[in-house]
Amino acid sequence: MNLLDMLNGDSSPATATCSRKGCRNAATAQLVWNNPKVHTPERRKIWLGCDEHTAWLEDYLRSRSLWRETLPLASDGERG
Ligand SMILES: [Zn+2]
Repeated sequence: MNLLDMLNGDSSPATATCSRKGCRNAATAQLVWNNPKVHTPERRKIWLGCDEHTAWLEDYLRSRSLWRETLPLASDGERG
């Protein structure tokens, strides 16, 4: 299982955008979640969140007991 394959499942492989409906901001975090009712325990789903919506998405997943972890999203254009 390759994380990039999941991200490329979206139609925009070059720029990772926020998973919040209607939001086009660049994603800065990835929310890892699993729904035990429909997924096997080792299955991991990834949502992407921008600065504005990562907390919102995490709260949404937490409230449904789906949330596993939130990780920073590494950026290709990162400058030191
Ligand atoms: Zn957003």
